[in-house]
Amino acid sequence: MKITALNGFKDIVPGEVELWQRVETAARTIFSRFSFSEIRMPILEKTELFSRSIGESTDIVEKEMYTFVDKQITMRPEATASLLRAYIQHGLHVQKPIQRLFTIGPMFRHERPQKGRLRQFHQMDVEVIGAQNPRVDAELMAMGALLLEELGLTVSLELNSLGCPACRPDFRQALLAFLEDRHEALCDDCKRRCTSNPLRVLDCKNPSCRTLVEEAPSIQEHLCQGCSDHFGVVQEGLQQLGVPYSLNKFMVRGLDYYTRTTFEFITGDLGAQAAVGAGGRYDGLIEQLGGPKVPGIGFALGMERLVLLLQQQEGEEVAEGESDLFVAGLGEVATNFVFPLVHALRRKGLQVATDYEGRSLKSQMKQANKAGAKWVLIIGDTELEEGQAVLRDMQSQEQEKIRIGTGVDALLSLLLQAFEKKKISLEQ
Ligand code: ATP
Ligand code: MG
Repeated sequence: MKITALNGFKDIVPGEVELWQRVETAARTIFSRFSFSEIRMPILEKTELFSRSIGESTDIVEKEMYTFVDKQITMRPEATASLLRAYIQHGLHVQKPIQRLFTIGPMFRHERPQKGRLRQFHQMDVEVIGAQNPRVDAELMAMGALLLEELGLTVSLELNSLGCPACRPDFRQALLAFLEDRHEALCDDCKRRCTSNPLRVLDCKNPSCRTLVEEAPSIQEHLCQGCSDHFGVVQEGLQQLGVPYSLNKFMVRGLDYYTRTTFEFITGDLGAQAAVGAGGRYDGLIEQLGGPKVPGIGFALGMERLVLLLQQQEGEEVAEGESDLFVAGLGEVATNFVFPLVHALRRKGLQVATDYEGRSLKSQMKQANKAGAKWVLIIGDTELEEGQAVLRDMQSQEQEKIRIGTGVDALLSLLLQAFEKKKISLEQ
């Protein structure tokens, strides 16, 4: 009987992993341009961290967490809470008043697995802690948009403001009054939400609830002066930076900690899994977790969804391997000569592949193609006796003879010379 991975848990195999590396490399490049430093946190945290930050009556905490009930620990369902826990624990605010941090890694949620929705999934998460200025919000969204653009993805940005503890109760009242009149038409989940968390009704996926809330009051019209001004400057900032966006008064997000700015990067190409990234401001959260009274804002991109989009865009063909050189040894003496030569070349920094099974030249040339080798060095027993090897350029198909001389060291220096020459001619 074969043992397979758990439902919703996936291996990332060669051919696909190259796209993951591309996504991650692009992210690291862009994040560092915007002065973010990396932070890495553990995967297990105390359950209380998430119930206190994400909110008891959210889907994540109510039904999606992987919790060891006997130990009161949970596999992190998202990165923000852990990152803030680490920020507080290490007193990072003392070192720098504004911290710009990013982290990349797996998150765990017990959801129904589908395309683009897994139980172990991966996020690239960025957070700016300590900055209240609405320009930071705009800049952060612009950074996300730039990264998606660098990856060649077309994604739209949706924006909302959720107000603050001063203005949200007012909106909540207005929304409740609206919902009360239509209570019977709501789905069972939303009936429950009316008492536990009425804002959640706004992003119910049920089609009849969706139609119903279209007429609901807009939070954007219930913002206090401070929130309204802040929201105004965020939008001006996006315009200044040339980042297109649209307002979405229904976006409430699945975590309770958000205040003011919330946003999502949306794609039309992944069906129900439309959000490739999402985030927002969480101005009271750090204090609520026992830290200093500082504001914060961040967002997370879902890597599975980014990779799916890249695959759809580029076709699923396996990305070719890449190596500088394939060394083909033919015959026992030659194979024995090749073994230390390959190692010496690798020590010099070349990417080298070879055959270990004494296969035919034809088969070794096939392997060289698969390995994406730029050059193949062919050494047979007869060549070795004549003190020669053949270096073939795989692109131009040109071959040249190289004198092996007295052994591995001599060949090595000849090869390195040959590569230097080729590199120069390639660069010109
Ligand atoms: P969704 O509405 O799709 O459930 P979410 O609002 O729960 O998303 P967030 O908690 O904001 O998602 O996480 C940020 C990003 O992480 C999402 O935009 C998405 O790209 C990705 N993500 C969230 N949950 C999953 C999952 N189960 N599998 C794969 N990616 C996910
Ligand atoms: Mg979700």
